[in-house]
Amino acid sequence: MISPLSVYIHIPFCLSKCPYCDFFSVQRDASGVNPSEYFRWLELEVELLCRRIKGLEGRTIASLYFGGGTPSLFAPAMYGGLIARLTAAFVFAPNLEGTLEINPGTLGGNESNGKHSCPSSSTDPPVVALPDSNRLESFLKMGINRLSVGVQSFSDRTLERLGRAHRTAETLVLLEWIRARAAKAAGNLTWCMDLIFGAPGQSLADWQGDLQRALAWQPHHLSVYGLTVHKGTPFAHLQREGRLDLPDEETQRAMFLEARHTLTAAGYEHYEISNYARPGFRSRHNECYWTGGEYLGLGPSAHSFVAGVRWANPPNLLRYGETLEAGRLPRRFDRAPKGRARLGEQVMLGLRRLEGIDLEAFRARIGCDLTQAYGREIARLAEAGFLELAHGRLRLTEEGLLVADAVMTEFF
Ligand code: SF4
Repeated sequence: MISPLSVYIHIPFCLSKCPYCDFFSVQRDASGVNPSEYFRWLELEVELLCRRIKGLEGRTIASLYFGGGTPSLFAPAMYGGLIARLTAAFVFAPNLEGTLEINPGTLGGNESNGKHSCPSSSTDPPVVALPDSNRLESFLKMGINRLSVGVQSFSDRTLERLGRAHRTAETLVLLEWIRARAAKAAGNLTWCMDLIFGAPGQSLADWQGDLQRALAWQPHHLSVYGLTVHKGTPFAHLQREGRLDLPDEETQRAMFLEARHTLTAAGYEHYEISNYARPGFRSRHNECYWTGGEYLGLGPSAHSFVAGVRWANPPNLLRYGETLEAGRLPRRFDRAPKGRARLGEQVMLGLRRLEGIDLEAFRARIGCDLTQAYGREIARLAEAGFLELAHGRLRLTEEGLLVADAVMTEFF
């Protein structure tokens, strides 16, 4: 039986560019591309993919994920043509998981545009762009049943230092709407929050405050990311000049562990390095990536893995569009990973999950006995306290979670 596909759709427009971000995205009003044209390119990509990849058309889609960028910047009507194209080309599973990433302050006709309406005196309440509930309702009608909110922090000072376009007041009105709507949907609407720790000037106490405020909302799912300074970003530049006041390594470790202990004590399953879910609310879309499932990524910089071939689109909006207009698929690379690279990739994905790798299932799926292929590496990492091998599974220890990237490089 052919397994279902997951589909990721990249919407690479943002109100403004956050100085730490290395995702491919452009400022909406300065992109030089009309967003409706972009949505047409996405349709074109679906059409070309179905024409070029034998057996793709007609496959079942288990999850659809609109990520970015900021997908919530656009009215649901903009998505209509693309959804129609996807519906014509594929079969949507009856229990389809449809996720939309939302940034606070981007769901009204009057979004803040990254400029914050400051009260003229300290007693004035902040002016907040209210989310347009018609827009949200239309997204739900479109098949969205999982809302992922980019909260990042409940502290305006932290949001400002992260260069985020929104403020806490906007987050709160959005969460209020979502929580009420989810209650009305009686289990048919899941919602999630993204938080960041290790922001400039953030203390452990600040982070504890963020976790407590997040927990008070009782989201179904929480993604908790440590800030990474990526090459080429404004934060990397500030860091080089010694002007980025990040928490030290010890504090960042303590922040990771604080999240792990606080959230698991509150009943969340820590199921992937950066992800926590109430029982039954894991992200099925992301689980597809981590378990070696097949996925199709649409849009510039999106990655795909179908029929043993992995490819990525170029992180360039114009090149993406021009290539499609010329009747070609915009692929930056296109390869079937083999040998140690393939194994390393699978180990890396498997170790991201807290339950680790089921060695027997790995052997059946990939045809390799990990304890033989990596006997020395596993023994060394287990001896150092980063890995454990028990009950037929290989997994990271708590100490290993803190240095996961370094552990994973040992398998390549
Ligand atoms: S909103 Fe998200 S995708 Fe857009 S610039 Fe900020 S971090 Fe990057």
